[in-house]
Amino acid sequence: MLGALPLNGSVAVSVLAIWRGCFRRISAPTSGRMEIKPRWEPGPGILVTNATIGQGRWTVQAKATVEAKCPSCGAGSTRRHSAYVRRLQDLPVQATPVELHVGVTRWRCCNKLCPRQTFVDRTDHVFLPHARQTCRVAELARSIGYVAGGRPTERLMRRLGLPQGDDRILRNLKRHAASSNKPLRVVGIDDWSWLKGSRFGTIIVDLERREVVDVLHDRSATSVAAWLERHPTIEIVSRDRCGLYAQAARQGAASARQVADRFHLIQNLRLAIEQQLSYNYRSVGSAHTLGAPPQDERSALREHRQMVRIGRRSVRLEQFRKVKALHQSGLNLSRIVDETGLGWRTVATWVTVDVLPERRLMDPRSTNPARFQDFLARLWDAGCKNGRKLLIEVRKQGYTGSFSHLERLLSKWRHTTSTPAAPVEKPDTHHVPAVTAIPSVPPIAASILCMKPRAQLTQREAAKVDSLKESLPNFAVMRRLAMRFRGILRGHDATKLDGWLKDARETGLYGIRRFVHILQRDIDAVRNAVSETWSNGQTEGQINRLKTLKRSMYGRAGTELLRARMLPLRV
Ligand SMILES: [Zn+2]
Repeated sequence: MLGALPLNGSVAVSVLAIWRGCFRRISAPTSGRMEIKPRWEPGPGILVTNATIGQGRWTVQAKATVEAKCPSCGAGSTRRHSAYVRRLQDLPVQATPVELHVGVTRWRCCNKLCPRQTFVDRTDHVFLPHARQTCRVAELARSIGYVAGGRPTERLMRRLGLPQGDDRILRNLKRHAASSNKPLRVVGIDDWSWLKGSRFGTIIVDLERREVVDVLHDRSATSVAAWLERHPTIEIVSRDRCGLYAQAARQGAASARQVADRFHLIQNLRLAIEQQLSYNYRSVGSAHTLGAPPQDERSALREHRQMVRIGRRSVRLEQFRKVKALHQSGLNLSRIVDETGLGWRTVATWVTVDVLPERRLMDPRSTNPARFQDFLARLWDAGCKNGRKLLIEVRKQGYTGSFSHLERLLSKWRHTTSTPAAPVEKPDTHHVPAVTAIPSVPPIAASILCMKPRAQLTQREAAKVDSLKESLPNFAVMRRLAMRFRGILRGHDATKLDGWLKDARETGLYGIRRFVHILQRDIDAVRNAVSETWSNGQTEGQINRLKTLKRSMYGRAGTELLRARMLPLRV
């Protein structure tokens, strides 16, 4: 029996043997069998009877010695029904795999009133019913799988003497993924992309305990609302300014307070400032006049967008001319890159062309009926004006969007007598007149400077801010507003917000007024963003972790696996 074991004092103590907690005693000179035997035990209630080596692995024979007690009624039993042997992978010895053969007994329940007729020895603390490995092996596989993922864990475990397939490792990991049972009070919700700009999922973070509580497959108000309904203890929902999650919170957690994310509020203000600054870059010859009263909100917005577009185009044109001039003066590419701050690829393209290349606009996706506009227009002209019929036809062409989305497009056609194939509004980029008086800082850089407190500015940046204040109309006004807005967000006094909104509106700057308008649509959540300390910062951090995990698995992991690796590991 154990006397045959090739054990002596020279056997080194491997890492796993330490974890196993048994090998140190075996490796020391031993005096008798009875001392060695318990050292092979996989856990209490299992008596080891033999251990042999062969075919590259240890086989440990054992039997369950737990008390026969019915799990339903608790009555003891002495009536044996049958017996069989469970084969389980156990922790290795010196990287040699160990297989445990445990004889277990099935007993008859002696209690006539008990619904259960037979039961098996309960050894859940060592191995679970139907498991092919002991609990401690499963724990180890989960711990490594959680950090490293399926394939790397498979390779590592093989080296350690624990050969397991990656499917089994991942199944084990997914089965045990569970969020904490403690009631949730404050959650942060945000989206993340499966495929950039195309398909999105949702992540939910417990902001109090700083851990992920769930990862949802999609980004929809319905699924988030359903999730919130299952967690009625939630009092505060922190979310970005995406209307979808606001709607989900109203549906699923009506009594919860919503908090808009401060980072996104700052970002949105910066964008508004950038757009407003773009006005200064439009050409003098442009038909748009700053400050002209808009006829209505929609046309004002259209005009605003058009001016922003023209402004951006003008900036690019100016940069293009600068690159060409530098190139003609004999500078090489890296010098031009240093000089202009543009990307290497952009500069490399621009020096080879004579005309500024147009920005490639993305084709509408298959969920957008605009992608099938020509096809739909042909049917429409041919007299087919029934939305449902058109939906059937356009589906055959690959449309994957909804009926209501299609109807929005069709309703525009129904209200116009003109030909439906009116092209989608595109920027009039071919006829940008000569640009005059372009300030030296592009709007995006100027807007970033505009938002930055003076204490954080470098000397060079401070000089730029001063010159922008002098050269650009309204820069100083917007900078004052931006600084006040930052102060309000930090100050936790929501009453100051009203004064700010009033002053911002009174500036008369369209970009800023529009920002105010959007804030007011979500004003309660914005107020909470000022008064509450919660923010979505850690949700953003968890999204970064999720992205890293997603990429480390080559984008092949499904929601279940991502969720298992995002939730805290509970072994
Ligand atoms: Zn029973």
